Amino acid sequence: MAARTVRPAPPADTDPGMVPVSALPGVGPALVAALARLGLERVQDLWFHLPLRYEDKTRVTAIADLRVGERAQVEGVVEAVERGFRYRPQLKVAIGDNSRQTLLLRFFHFNRAQAEQLLPGTRLLCYGEVRHGAQGLEMVHPTYQRLGGDETVNVDELLSPVYPTTEGLGQKRLAGVIAKAMALLPPAERLELIPPELCAEHGLTSLRDALLYVHRPPPDAHLGQLMLGQHPAQQRLAFEELLTQHLSLKRMRAAVRRRHAPKLGGGDGVLRAQLLGGLPFQLTAAQQRVSAEVAQDLAQAKPMLRLVQGDVGSGKTVVAALAALAAVEAGHQVALMAPTELLAEQHLHNFRHWLRPLGIEVAWLAGKVTGKARKLALERVAAEASVVIGTHALMQEGVAFARLGLVIVDEQHRFGVQQRLALRDKGKDGELVPHQLVLTATPIPRTLAMSAYADLDVSSIDELPPGRTPVQTIAISNARRLEVIERIHAACAEGRQAYWVCTLIEESEQLRAQAAEVAHAELSAALSGFRIGLIHGRMKPKEKQAVMDAFKAGELAVLVATTVIEVGVDVPRASLMVIENSERLGLAQLHQLRGRVGRGALASNCVLLYQPPLGQLARERLQVMRDTNDGFRIAEKDLELRGPGEVLGTRQTGQLSFRIADLTRDAHLLPAVQQVGEHMLKEHPRQTGQLIERWIGGAARFVHA
Ligand code: ADP
Ligand code: MG
Repeated sequence: MAARTVRPAPPADTDPGMVPVSALPGVGPALVAALARLGLERVQDLWFHLPLRYEDKTRVTAIADLRVGERAQVEGVVEAVERGFRYRPQLKVAIGDNSRQTLLLRFFHFNRAQAEQLLPGTRLLCYGEVRHGAQGLEMVHPTYQRLGGDETVNVDELLSPVYPTTEGLGQKRLAGVIAKAMALLPPAERLELIPPELCAEHGLTSLRDALLYVHRPPPDAHLGQLMLGQHPAQQRLAFEELLTQHLSLKRMRAAVRRRHAPKLGGGDGVLRAQLLGGLPFQLTAAQQRVSAEVAQDLAQAKPMLRLVQGDVGSGKTVVAALAALAAVEAGHQVALMAPTELLAEQHLHNFRHWLRPLGIEVAWLAGKVTGKARKLALERVAAEASVVIGTHALMQEGVAFARLGLVIVDEQHRFGVQQRLALRDKGKDGELVPHQLVLTATPIPRTLAMSAYADLDVSSIDELPPGRTPVQTIAISNARRLEVIERIHAACAEGRQAYWVCTLIEESEQLRAQAAEVAHAELSAALSGFRIGLIHGRMKPKEKQAVMDAFKAGELAVLVATTVIEVGVDVPRASLMVIENSERLGLAQLHQLRGRVGRGALASNCVLLYQPPLGQLARERLQVMRDTNDGFRIAEKDLELRGPGEVLGTRQTGQLSFRIADLTRDAHLLPAVQQVGEHMLKEHPRQTGQLIERWIGGAARFVHA
């Protein structure tokens, strides 16, 4: 790309990107509110709201040619309709086409009008994911439209982007408003924030072209490449996003490290000794080493910014508790934040168990605490509680800590950087900033760690406590699903407990929940006599907790779950896990999930159900899972295998919530990102700020603080 002369950026008031979305034609208050829920407030937010994936409605597939696992568009005539009420309302619609095969459409959520419209003889054009059902091929909740008797099918000319969205805002409407925003895209050189000489040096193509391409891929676009996130347009955007991430972390670190923190050391260590004395085990050497590193940081007058990484089950919690004691002993408060309520409650349980005997009060604060209880909790937080545990509710307005000395964030990769920033912001009043300890179970190779956590120092717990029985893992084709269910039956009969994990990666929690509901119905029917629980992200916190409690108490034999149980859940008695569609998950996520079993002394098993035929990469991944339980080896292998990229799910499983970048897939960009980043921090502070504002938006406020 040719170098251009640097033009001064236009003042903000003429920058179309800064215009509020409400200024776009046809965008009324309801739409503004829906967009705000997605964090889309200005026109530029829409430019950078990038597709999750693409749908190919440019052709119609004959039912006979459908392949399981693929998304396809099918045209057919309704042959039979059945409304069932066995477990819950269900509408089954069989359609047939010229290929003389039948496809079943299944709906769990439908209204009467809908059911009445789908009569035999109706022509439909539907789009959805093809799966194996009890009666052959099926689609669960396809999108569809009715066609007139002789209406010709109009296929799309372009691939349709699928955007992350929110309830009440359909893809069509969202795409429409994004198109309106795209019409305001300024000329290339005004959009570009990376200086032209750096673009030239690193071969970065036009940002404008890249945006136009990803929002509206041309008719000849390569779906495969787009799905993999490897199209040059996507890579250009990924570069900029990684760069921004890097810049923001570096800035933040510098800003925080300039401040002062309370010295949390020099106590007599009585609390620590008491806690250790009361544990039924001794710390591993790795736990001791990491704990000492943390203690040393805490004793400084500069805020600690430390990441503790350690494999699933390596015992990070007790290391966190020891750090908390140092703060409490020095008369400061500790906040512990977990990404899910489920996990936060477990921490509450553990910390109360450990700290109550030492006379230390542990308060609870999460989203579900409301009304009076919330007010009371807030007052306690402000005044007295030594340790406060909760979810991101901890960051909400109104939570003011009196003497916050240490913030602990568990399972970091589930939090966006934004949230990490917001909590760090909490202790800002007055002079002192709290120390920060971040725990993650995602072992990441060093180069990646340097980028993902450019603001943190890293300690590793590279040893598991003794006496763990490794989980035996096998991979089984979904064709043998009934055998697997048999096996669960036998295990339950022996009093064992099992997880059944549904892993559909969908753009909405609703579709994921539906998949779990289908599996729940299936297992309930097959395992009569045993109680089967269901947990997914659409349930109310209270319901989730009730189900978790029942499973913990052994009242449920099987827990059917979405990947909500991925992090931190600790039910040592559960010793069997089945993961559906395991071929679609990345190694990191499979390892996390499997880490839910093998926690006690019981010999545990993990069954990786897969949908044949397996691609080469999927085959290798499943092989790795069978071969090893070692998180670090798995992480290395992951990087090696994912070099060429991953079809789906990488964005959801990435360590940070990126819009388009994937740290593993795009690792090859990191050296250049670091170089460009260094240069920009020094020479182009204004553009650096604008990049952060563009990609990270609201959180940028904290970075500048
Ligand atoms: P994670 O690192 O995944 O958060 P946890 O802190 O939940 O792991 O620890 C997993 C389990 O191992 C817990 O039941 C904990 O009590 C136990 N544990 C932690 N450290 C040790 C140790 N040194 N020896 C034996 N068991 C330990
Ligand atoms: Mg943990």
